[in-house]
Amino acid sequence: MSNTLFESIGLSPELCRAVSDMNYTEATGIQAGAIPLLMQGLDVIGRSSTGTGKTAAFGIPAVERVSGGDRRAQVLVLSPTRELAMQISEEMRKYAKYKTGISVAAVYGGAPMDAQITQLRTANIVIGTPGRVMDHMRRRTLRLDTLKMVVLDEADEMLNMGFLEDIQSILSATPEDRQTVLFSATMPPTILKITSEFLKDPQTVHIRTPQKTIETIDQYFYQVPQSRKMDAINLLLQMQEPSRSVIFCNTKSMVDDLVQYLGDRGFQALGLHGDMKQSGRTQVMQSFRNGKASILVATDVAARGIDVEDIEAVYNFDIPQEFEYYIHRIGRTGRAGKSGTSHTLVCGFRQLNTMKELRRYINADIREAPLPSAEDILRRRQEHFSAKVAQTLESGGYEAFGGQIDEILQNQGCGLRDVACALAQIISSSEKKTIPVVKATVSADSSRRGGKRVVLNADIGSANRIGANFIVGAIVDSTGLPSRSIGRIDIFDDHTLIEMFENDALTVLNEMSSVRIRGCETHFTLSTEKPRPAFQGNRRPRSAEAPFASRDRLSGKPSRRGHRRNNEKWSRKQERRNRLEID
Ligand code: ADP
Ligand code: MG
Repeated sequence: MSNTLFESIGLSPELCRAVSDMNYTEATGIQAGAIPLLMQGLDVIGRSSTGTGKTAAFGIPAVERVSGGDRRAQVLVLSPTRELAMQISEEMRKYAKYKTGISVAAVYGGAPMDAQITQLRTANIVIGTPGRVMDHMRRRTLRLDTLKMVVLDEADEMLNMGFLEDIQSILSATPEDRQTVLFSATMPPTILKITSEFLKDPQTVHIRTPQKTIETIDQYFYQVPQSRKMDAINLLLQMQEPSRSVIFCNTKSMVDDLVQYLGDRGFQALGLHGDMKQSGRTQVMQSFRNGKASILVATDVAARGIDVEDIEAVYNFDIPQEFEYYIHRIGRTGRAGKSGTSHTLVCGFRQLNTMKELRRYINADIREAPLPSAEDILRRRQEHFSAKVAQTLESGGYEAFGGQIDEILQNQGCGLRDVACALAQIISSSEKKTIPVVKATVSADSSRRGGKRVVLNADIGSANRIGANFIVGAIVDSTGLPSRSIGRIDIFDDHTLIEMFENDALTVLNEMSSVRIRGCETHFTLSTEKPRPAFQGNRRPRSAEAPFASRDRLSGKPSRRGHRRNNEKWSRKQERRNRLEID
């Protein structure tokens, strides 16, 4: 089969044939822009969004560049993660299918050295993570002085991961006259450090299609109380039943927790994050690729660059730390022109604002949608059932059961309709997945706020090093209630009293029967204490609190303190704190 577009770029017949085997009928923008430049031996900075075919953009010229007979390292590709290194090496082998004498080695941490050393002896294309490449350099099992070409793939991510110095050391150890190529989805200023130091007259190929992959993706978000996010994902998965989906979390521990939760509820979900052993990660990716598990729960870093076909839906369990990540995440679906959907959980007003900014940033619509209700899911199950019955009736092959049904009809003396209904009931009761009930986040509407005031007790206090800001933050994030719904907060050594209107207090009790605040499992109960007369929601004059607080300090009672809160500040602080846990 001929492949005119790739031929016109000037590829050799071997490469054209390989590309056409892969069903690439047309070069993508970044490929059409970068391949001819790279074939001329020029240094290139390639920038295009995720899923636009950057691997082939550098991989095809790299394979062309290698002299088949020479078994020394000629091309080095640096990649941020092990998974991506493996993926690139597989792609490279595909491009090199008809070219003789090409040997590809992938070197990354967490895998035995011996096998890699053996591979490196004959490899003329080496793909590796910076850390492991440095290891091999030190052991002299990888020599870089014969390199013709160095590629930095996902350069922004490598810098994010703190590989700048490693990359500088590696590049410094390569020959002066090498060709240097840098690919990245974004160009943070730190990249200039590398390009100015190591690239010679680089040609920039920038394909400005930030929404290209996004346009084919229907994007939704759902307002959910923080404490019910897992149940919300459960509902969405049951309703949408994507054949393959990725759920993104911001922290490794969240990945583990969510995998556990989903597993307990009958979903086939696997987790992927940086703390897992290499063998485990490989196994997870294999099971996901070959369809043994339909749900992958991952952190951003672990999933970076991963290309798995036919991902129907991407779920953002957490809103990503950076807007650019959102594009990377949802770019996992809707690849190669296919459509896909993305679903983001949003908790509280602060995140709702973030969502609005995100919408502006990506310049595409992210529509708010209600979480599916139990009725929606039951209706969906019924539709499935009816469709299956229709399909079975059409395809036949069920006649063998005829005798048994006749017997039931005779013995029970009932009609066919009754038997069919009984069968439907048996089948529906065998459904293992239960449907959680998630109330939509309480609306921001303050008109319904008011009525009787009550005092809540939380079994956490100054001994746990908490301040009022922790309490307010936890309530706001878990329930979606605005901070002004919270009145006076008094912190004692081992417990805290919180004044609220009765309606709001009930929401707290419902949504927060148990939450973690500053790492401590915390329980909220209704206290028998009477609210203080001064409390008027947030409209209380600032001074109302002062005499109480100062009197307390004067009386020398150490544990009782009145706190004034600044929720905005808290939110930002908390966000930073959460970020510490990031992969
Ligand atoms: P990026 O590195 O830009 O995120 P990839 O190189 O991972 O993108 O490619 C994304 C997907 O597009 C892969 O499945 C790849 O096989 C496919 N692809 C790449 N180039 C072409 C092409 N010219 N025609 C069709 N599909 C392509
Ligand atoms: Mg890539």
